[in-house]
Amino acid sequence: MHIEEQALPYEDLLDNRPLKQVELMVIHCTELPDIATARMYGEKIHYNSGTGNSGHYYIDRDGPIYQWVKPEKIAHHVKGHNKQSIGIEIINTGRYPEWHHSQHQQPDETYPDKQIDSLIDLINHLHRTIPSLKHIAGHEDLDSELITASDDITKKVRRKIDPGPLFPWQHVMKNIQLINIGSIAKKYE
Ligand SMILES: [Zn+2]
Repeated sequence: MHIEEQALPYEDLLDNRPLKQVELMVIHCTELPDIATARMYGEKIHYNSGTGNSGHYYIDRDGPIYQWVKPEKIAHHVKGHNKQSIGIEIINTGRYPEWHHSQHQQPDETYPDKQIDSLIDLINHLHRTIPSLKHIAGHEDLDSELITASDDITKKVRRKIDPGPLFPWQHVMKNIQLINIGSIAKKYE
């Protein structure tokens, strides 16, 4: 398996951690059209530390795996769970570009086999090299915040739904050794 290193410009500014602190894998999808757009969002500075929001790994539709942040660094990818987790971002349009429109909450892009094969390889590789990894969850399991819909102030929508209902949890869980702690993910087992 090949992992292409493409460190984010601010990688050095992210906080360090001992690898044995890492126990949770968080699965995301980018809800963006392509990897170039994901990179643009990842490079945006959001914090006084000069850093922004991104996963550690990105997987494109046809299978290539990129490392944007090394696992020894704490990336900002999930509220409240960053210190102990690794974030894997899968390229998928999700609800783009009307993320929070009340009539646009059903993603329709499926996940290609090549992309999911790479994801399984990456999870197993990380599990071998970081033995403290135990658990896995979807972002939607860890962030259930509701926000006002972009088209109707009387409606609420999920802030985060990734990786969403089209993600093949059942297939992925059959091929990895981590324990699924997500309640949404569990529905698909
Ligand atoms: Zn996410």
